[in-house]
Order: sequence, then structure tokens, then C-alpha cells
Amino acid sequence: MTKAYDDQNIFARILRGEIPNKTVAETEHTLAFHDIAPHTPNHILVIPKGAYVDFADFAAHATAEEITDFHRVAAKLCADWADGYRVISNSGTHGGQEVPHYHLHLLAGRPLGPMIQR
Ligand code: AMP
Repeated sequence: MTKAYDDQNIFARILRGEIPNKTVAETEHTLAFHDIAPHTPNHILVIPKGAYVDFADFAAHATAEEITDFHRVAAKLCADWADGYRVISNSGTHGGQEVPHYHLHLLAGRPLGPMIQR
């Protein structure tokens, strides 16, 4: 079931220009910017400009053009990290999602350790 989109979330406010961000890439459908509290030397967030709550919402309801553009932006950034990277998307309570607007975390710049705690 798709959750209702809250248009007061912080990434919606960034997209409306109400609060600043450190943009690293922008297209018609996608925005990438530095995470305000980076977990790694390189920590970039990639968000669609459309109103999607999480991965399942985006993958089910975005247009093919939005989906392609979003992944091409993320891939272009990841391709710069020759030593590797990790891509994470959190959803809901168990996923630890803080901001209810779909986003990828692109993490790089040091060894990242185990994928998750067991
Ligand atoms: P998540 O827990 O997957 O929803 O991740 C939300 C991320 O958004 C966290 O890593 C925060 O540090 C980041 N964040 C929150 N507010 C901002 C902001 N104003 N600019 C950039 N990143 C933010």
C-alpha cells in the first residue's frame, strides 16, 4: 500500500527552494545534493523531483523517463568513485527512513564495513 505523500517534508521544501542545499547534479527530473550530516567522506543524496514516498512508490508510479533519469544521475556520480561505493534506500519504520521523500544515499570515500548489523 502506498503511503500518502507529506508535502511539508524537508526534501519537498528543498525542491521548492524554501531551504538551501549543496547541489552536485540537477536535471529536469532529479536533484542530487550533499547530505547535511555525512556518514562518509562522500555522502550524496539523490532525489526525484516528483512526489514519491519511497522506493516502492517510485518504482511503481514514476514514468519511465523519471526512472531512467534518476538512475543515470546516480550512476554518473557513483562512476567517479574508483574504489567503490554503497547505495542505500531506507523505507518506513523498520528501514529507518527519516525523510518521507524517496532518496538514494550514495556512500563512498572509505571502506564501509559490513552491510548491516546482524
Ligand atoms: P533517511 O533516514 O534515509 O530518510 O535519510 C535522511 C537523510 O537526510 C539523513 O542522512 C539526513 O542527514 C539528511 N538530511 C536531513 N535534512 C537535510 C538537509 N536539509 N540537507 C541535506 N540532507 C539532509
